[in-house]
Amino acid sequence: MLLRLPTSLSEARTCLAEGAVPVGGATLVWGVWQRDGFPEQAVSLRHVPEANVLEREALGGAVLLHRVDDRVPEVLHRAAGSVGTGAVRRTATVGGNIVGSTLRCLLPAALVLDARATVLDRDGTYETNLAEVVAKRHLLLGLRWREPAASGYHKAPADPGGPPPLVVATAAHAEDGGHRLRVAVRDGHEVVTGSAARPAGTAADPVLRALERTDLGALPPTAREVVRREVTALLDRLT
Ligand SMILES: Cc1cc2nc3c(=O)[nH]c(=O)nc-3n(C[C@H](O)[C@H](O)[C@H](O)COP(=O)(O)OP(=O)(O)OC[C@H]3O[C@@H](n4cnc5c(N)ncnc54)[C@H](O)[C@@H]3O)c2cc1C
Repeated sequence: MLLRLPTSLSEARTCLAEGAVPVGGATLVWGVWQRDGFPEQAVSLRHVPEANVLEREALGGAVLLHRVDDRVPEVLHRAAGSVGTGAVRRTATVGGNIVGSTLRCLLPAALVLDARATVLDRDGTYETNLAEVVAKRHLLLGLRWREPAASGYHKAPADPGGPPPLVVATAAHAEDGGHRLRVAVRDGHEVVTGSAARPAGTAADPVLRALERTDLGALPPTAREVVRREVTALLDRLT
């Protein structure tokens, strides 16, 4: 297998056009390739500057999970820190997690940040939403979002080899003098989202009731209880 390491977007496009398969840290694909056979060529974005951005409102797809620190909002920082073991986080990338893994611990965090994705295909780069990136398995160059006023991340303790642990991600963005709250819950392998406005000075209860009227209301009672707790904590921090 030829591993191609482009240093610019145009070189990366050429690699894709010539059939190279995207690879991040290979924490997932290595085993698959050993079992099913290696592709002729793979392309890594590790030397492409746009895929290595790490800023307050942007994160590149080639950034290693252990590098995701408190420059990004708490929800994303804590999500990255919760993935696997230290060895996995030192090798695995943001793009490999969001697009390539089944657990996708970073996806709920990116969803509550209302992040937009920049993807690369043979025709160039364009911006799209996370649902499309995941569904179509686009090559993820990076994520961009508006900095939230506050955010939070809860991941239930997990048994090795057991079912995916519950994840509840929350964020509040300034909106019309108040806030917009977004919640994303990974329950099993499904990710459910809901959002509600919180006009300035509103108490927690009406916000929690509004969130219950979204898809979050169909979650099992234990998950809804964690959502209530996480949202209440987030609202406390806003005041
Ligand atoms: C021991 C262990 C524990 C783990 N625990 C967790 C956990 O708690 N939570 C969790 O979420 N995950 C967990 N994982 C999965 C982990 O998230 C993935 O292994 C990792 O994120 C994949 O990243 P990678 O860069 O190594 O991807 P690779 O293995 O290189 O690629 C995986 C797939 O993603 C594609 N890909 C790679 N980069 C991109 C890109 N930029 N754009 C689009 N597609 C791309 C590849 O083509 C491939 O199909 C665990 C894995 C291991 C081995």
